[in-house]
Amino acid sequence: TRMNGKVAIVTGAGSGMGLEEARLLAQEGAKVVLTDINFDAVQAVAKSIQEDGGDAIAIKHDVASEDNWSEVVAETVNQYGKIDVLVNNAGISMAVGLLDTSIDQWNRVMNINVTSVFLGMKHVIPHMVAGGGGSIINISSIAGLTGSSGAGAYTASKGAVRMLSKAAAVDFGGQNIRVNSVHPGFISTPMSSQFVEDPQMLQFFLSQTALPRVGQASEVAQAVLFLASDEASYVTGVELPVDGGVTAK
Ligand code: NAD
Repeated sequence: TRMNGKVAIVTGAGSGMGLEEARLLAQEGAKVVLTDINFDAVQAVAKSIQEDGGDAIAIKHDVASEDNWSEVVAETVNQYGKIDVLVNNAGISMAVGLLDTSIDQWNRVMNINVTSVFLGMKHVIPHMVAGGGGSIINISSIAGLTGSSGAGAYTASKGAVRMLSKAAAVDFGGQNIRVNSVHPGFISTPMSSQFVEDPQMLQFFLSQTALPRVGQASEVAQAVLFLASDEASYVTGVELPVDGGVTAK
């Protein structure tokens, strides 16, 4: 168990990658606080982790709300006494071309994908400093590394997550806090199912990857576990693609 004694917050843990990340961290011995705007979903995931012998609680959380972040952090510290790991995973996709993007759509994707990461780090880092260190993993995308077609706002949001991670890595390394970003490629989750299940889209995806398949959420979770664990003790400020080789091309 690589996460024994650690306390982790995972946002967007009701579905897809967040669910697998929370489950794996718990399996490895972490006490996990699962948050999601969809409370029923995240409560069910926490319950199944408990049934498997893990230590987990669920909290309803809109990651774009600063008040909600205050509550999540207070409840985590109240329940478990400290915070060692933060996984900023919650996010929304927006496959809308730049010229068709309304200001409301732009603000929505920026609030949920970027402001969330800023608020999470702002509220959690003081507790990590008090505890002697920590590891923050921010989920970006291959869209945060290269220009994705037909998704200008989403691409901008994921690029911002990447640079915000590096800025925080530089500022808080002195306090033993590591901050890294993970960049999933084409991963099969509820968010991507409409694309992955379309034969033409799937063919396009497979033309982009080196490994001839889409990825599983559990494969992204393994990368998150590595960065969260002490095995990554000298790794900070990096961008880790988990993309089957898309960005190698
Ligand atoms: P998903 O839609 O399956 O799960 C996302 C979860 O986030 C859901 O449970 C949802 O309720 C929650 N959520 C949405 N808005 C929220 C909010 N305002 N506050 C709190 N929770 C909220 O998505 P996924 O595919 O698992 O994606 C997880 C992350 O990975 C996202 O940041 C996404 O942008 C990124 N990503 C996904 C892919 C992919 O192929 N699926 C690729 C690259 C990056």
